[in-house]
Amino acid sequence: MEEVSLFDTASRSVKPLLASDGKELKFYACGPTVYGPAHIGNFRTFVVQDLLVRVWQRAGGKVRHVRNLTDVDDKTIRGAREAKQKLKNFTQGWTDLFWKDGQDLRLQKPTQEPRATEFIPKQMALVEKLVQGGHAYEAEGSVYFRVKSFAAYGKLSRLDEREVKEGASGRADSDEYAREQAADFVLWKAYKEEDGEVFWESPWGKGRPGWHLECSAMAMEILGETIDLHGGGADLIFPHHENEIAQCEAATGKAFVRHWFHVSHLLVENRKMSKSLGNLYTLDDVTSRGWDSSDLRLVLLSGHYRQPLNFSWETMKAVRHGRERLGRLRLCLEEACKGKKGEGWGSFQPAWDALREDLETPKALGALYTAVGELEQQQKKGFSLSEAAKELSGLDLILDVFGISPSLEQEVQAPEEMQSLAKARSAARLAKDWKESDRLRDELANHGWEVRDAAGSWRLVQKPRTT
Ligand code: AMP
Ligand code: ZN
Repeated sequence: MEEVSLFDTASRSVKPLLASDGKELKFYACGPTVYGPAHIGNFRTFVVQDLLVRVWQRAGGKVRHVRNLTDVDDKTIRGAREAKQKLKNFTQGWTDLFWKDGQDLRLQKPTQEPRATEFIPKQMALVEKLVQGGHAYEAEGSVYFRVKSFAAYGKLSRLDEREVKEGASGRADSDEYAREQAADFVLWKAYKEEDGEVFWESPWGKGRPGWHLECSAMAMEILGETIDLHGGGADLIFPHHENEIAQCEAATGKAFVRHWFHVSHLLVENRKMSKSLGNLYTLDDVTSRGWDSSDLRLVLLSGHYRQPLNFSWETMKAVRHGRERLGRLRLCLEEACKGKKGEGWGSFQPAWDALREDLETPKALGALYTAVGELEQQQKKGFSLSEAAKELSGLDLILDVFGISPSLEQEVQAPEEMQSLAKARSAARLAKDWKESDRLRDELANHGWEVRDAAGSWRLVQKPRTT
């Protein structure tokens, strides 16, 4: 297969990505916490992971991609209680929406999507092993990881001793007084009143798993004690992934992960997304403004994954324009090749090469549009059959790796009212009443619809709103 390289957070260097068994890449991605709709920041991480999988596959590799569903934690329990629903029903509803959004964004289905609640016995077994090995201790029905017992703690995030001692391990409940050291983190949480019906019987009494533990147990159970690649958003480096390493390596004595893959955050208007700032967007918020999910997918891939990316409606506009060019070129190549099949990357080779080198999407998109510009020039002179076939093959390959459709407009049914306006405009045109037909066109435009005339008929196309 062709080489694919990727930055590794642990060694701080770009390294070749390898399937250590020579067969398939074992990739674990921390999945969504299903307590509400995923926002476009979450989807940045999932879209970039999806791109990596597509690049790996196109390069000739096989992958076992596991992405879990966090369906029991503080947020899901609180959400279910507030919605007066059973935890299972509550998380299933949000899981369904996540799957639907993922499909719209053309995320390929992972090989497996384990739910944390399906692996409780495995999680308990891992806790028991850690207790037996002296790496964990029980206190008041909860079990904590003894950070002091694991010398390599902090190696991923390069945390120094001082920070560890000060208890930077995060997400520490204020009522966890029973911990020996502030840095110790919870593996198993003792039952509390507000957990309602959510608990499992364990050797330490009624309780539930901690979030970090869930991922460690699922990753090792499904992919093995040492996995090839593990990823998530950059916010997970510490404490989540640091704690996953501690749990796994203390239990097995083996290296847990060969390659770490973290995606920087998506910002909106250069700020962290938050409900209170009113800048937290879901896929629905974007598509209900008339944008296509392909536009969003391309925007999410427009910046390099190791840099924070700022989302704005202006970038959406630019991307839409680019996608229209792709659509027009594709149509033209399709016509010119007259059904002849081509092979290879053609002018899109540099774009493909850039993707295989640490997913350099800005470079790849630059190369893609350079090729598009050159082909647009050539189009004026006309393509030979075989040229058109080769370029169409390259264009389709690169579009497939990016996971975007080049289609010009989304098919949206215009509301009744808009259709009547368009009909009236059509009648005015027939009567050669240009003033009236222009007025009606402007009125449609004010409502966000563009009327396109074609062969004695018309079509309404929704224009994206930019705010
Ligand atoms: P969560 O549902 O909170 O568990 O997060 C799901 C994934 O989205 C994790 O990999 C997070 O690190 C990632 N994530 C959360 N917020 C953002 C953001 N603003 N930009 C990119 N990734 C994010
Ligand atoms: Zn995780």
